[in-house]
Amino acid sequence: MSWTDMALNGRILVVDDAMENIQILHGALQDEHEVLFALDGPRALDIARTQQPDLILLDAVMPGMDGYAVCKELLAAPETSDIPVIFVTALKSPEDETRALGAGAADFISKPVNAAVVRARVRTQLTVKRQRDALRALILTDALTGVANRRAFDERLDAEWRRCGRAGLPVALIFVDIDHFKLYNDHYGHQAGDATLIQFAAAMRRAAARTQDLVARYGGEEFAVLLPQLDSRGATGVAHRLMAELERLAIPHAASPTAPCLTASMGIACMVPGEHSLPADLIQVADTLLYQAKAEGRNRFRLGGAECIG
Ligand code: GH3
Ligand code: MG
Ligand code: MG
Repeated sequence: MSWTDMALNGRILVVDDAMENIQILHGALQDEHEVLFALDGPRALDIARTQQPDLILLDAVMPGMDGYAVCKELLAAPETSDIPVIFVTALKSPEDETRALGAGAADFISKPVNAAVVRARVRTQLTVKRQRDALRALILTDALTGVANRRAFDERLDAEWRRCGRAGLPVALIFVDIDHFKLYNDHYGHQAGDATLIQFAAAMRRAAARTQDLVARYGGEEFAVLLPQLDSRGATGVAHRLMAELERLAIPHAASPTAPCLTASMGIACMVPGEHSLPADLIQVADTLLYQAKAEGRNRFRLGGAECIG
């Protein structure tokens, strides 16, 4: 499918205080897109947050909260800052246009609107957004296993640390390292090693399957499982599930001194983010515990961190 085809079927939010303008824009867009509408700024912000439109057509001049103020609030909130905005307005001077673009608008359409022009401009912005979203997904994904990469992990850990800190909730982290993977490669070959990493990552996703859980490839054959809002007991449950998944997969590892099948070692850390703690502290604890699990014989997990057993 081409980018232009993918720009079809977007969800568009039309914001205008005059119902007749909404009807005109709805008429221009309804064949290709799902159209939502709002008659004022606060309602527009509410719909943008909850319905996550792909694009917003925004009237600049509205009573109460005007388009510029709406645009500013959209940009300020992380959950709406990526939604492109096209200003639709009867104001025509270069100053008005500059002001709209300066407020963060992606484009500017003059009233009275022409249906063909609206459709073309909308398609262009949707295409740009799709490309940007795809690029962002690409730079956040590990190419081999399809799980999150280190960059995505760092971003999410920072965000969850702040979010859970505000709410007084724990953040759990499991570092998982495959046992004797160098010997696995030596025995079965690097390509078989790659295939096993893919299987292993999929098993971890099954073990940590809540929407807020994040499985990431931290490097080589080491993975990180970020478990926001989970206490030590919950995180231990995830570790047990991963052990069970590995047992079920029973990937032969004839060269392993630990077991006849592929095993992994884990360090589980759990902390409630506080004023004097950083995400790096959580990583440090998980890493140290992983090292202990290795030293104590592998194929096991060690648990620690500040008390957060619920
Ligand atoms: P330990 O139980 O102490 O963790 O031993 P190990 O052999 O797993 O650890 P070590 O760090 O010595 O070796 C890691 C191995 O993982 C070596 C490296 O070739 C392999 N590896 C890392 N990334 C990849 C990859 O993308 N594909 C394959 N096939 N192997 C990889
Ligand atoms: Mg290893
Ligand atoms: Mg390693």
